[in-house]
Amino acid sequence: MFDQLSSLPPDPILGLMAAYRADSNPNKIDLGVGVYKDETGTTPVMKAVKAAESRLLSTQNSKAYVGPVGLDTFNDSVAELVFGKELTRKLGARRVTFQTPGGCGGLRLAAEFIQRIKPGSRILVSDPTWANHVPLLGDAGLEIETYPYYDRGCHSIRFDEMMAVLANAGPNDLVLLHGCCHNPCGADLTTEQWQAVATLADKNGFIPFIDLAYHGLGDGLDEDAYGLRLLAETVPEMIVVNSCSKNFGLYRERTGGLSIITTSEQSSRAAASQVAAIARGIYSMPPDHGASVVAEILQDDTLRQQWDNELREVRQRINALRSQLVTALKARQVAEDFSFIEREKGMFSFLGLSVAQVQTLVTDYSVYLVDSSRINVAGINNSNIDYLADAIANVVA
Ligand code: PMP
Repeated sequence: MFDQLSSLPPDPILGLMAAYRADSNPNKIDLGVGVYKDETGTTPVMKAVKAAESRLLSTQNSKAYVGPVGLDTFNDSVAELVFGKELTRKLGARRVTFQTPGGCGGLRLAAEFIQRIKPGSRILVSDPTWANHVPLLGDAGLEIETYPYYDRGCHSIRFDEMMAVLANAGPNDLVLLHGCCHNPCGADLTTEQWQAVATLADKNGFIPFIDLAYHGLGDGLDEDAYGLRLLAETVPEMIVVNSCSKNFGLYRERTGGLSIITTSEQSSRAAASQVAAIARGIYSMPPDHGASVVAEILQDDTLRQQWDNELREVRQRINALRSQLVTALKARQVAEDFSFIEREKGMFSFLGLSVAQVQTLVTDYSVYLVDSSRINVAGINNSNIDYLADAIANVVA
């Protein structure tokens, strides 16, 4: 059965990581991998997570199965985190939330759910979008099309073109929107733009599908959820997938949620039964540890406060690095205007370099980034920022 198999080409990011590890240059910088890194270059376990884990270690007295929808305490507290207390109360039984194996698990589960109820449905995703959206949604059978989003030359959102394409989307279509901190471009919709999208979604009937992978890494927990909450108040049906990988630093614990909003309690109950059956058929039930940690943190005032503070530090560090990089490039009198980096949000931005310039950064300076020139801002720190700014200034000169 396996004799004729051929290997797939390696993932470019994995190749980049391997080249970075093998590089002996003491000044090497990794701006490729999409995980948060602190000033020392490590991806830390948050203190609130450690505290919750030690509580769990002493109090958890069973590892018996939980069930396909996961922990109720996680689902309830994550719904309030995503939608806010007031809106969660307002949505009532129109909203159901499921614990999923990370954001990826939530995206796939949602795609399988749509495929089950309306096979081959069209989903419009931003151009560009996170590369993994394509297999996560497309392999379930959804038909993926794109809407214009980011202008790489002007470093701004192609909003008029985006709206012109979305104007042709209707009740049989889904539109994937990044909740905040767009991956890969870092450019988020303004409040006015979210309002225009919400009005159009309501008028034309397309279903907003929000991917919220960086909640709290942009401007704040409430600020980052503005768009999705506005949509949830405006439209009758929508889907939200949230990840706890970045904002809780729980990457490998595979912790996330899928929320579905329908027009009635009855429809939500029906949707919940379908989603539970799909989860059963794929992985039976989600892993528990990360979700137990998140529930423990969100339900305890002290841990919650500690987590809020730690997340604020992450957010402030990223935003400070964005400003510092812009200042450092200005100080080197580069001809290009890099001020867009300061306006963009979250871990990622495109530097706007050509593939040849990226290759020079990698080979001549040991600055590792993907060909699109997307950088992980969190890979910058006080010790490498001058070296990085010099390298970029030399490459664009
Ligand atoms: N959506 C986007 C846009 C992401 O960047 C990521 C993580 N890189 C995810 C979803 C899913 O993350 P995870 O499965 O680790 O929670």
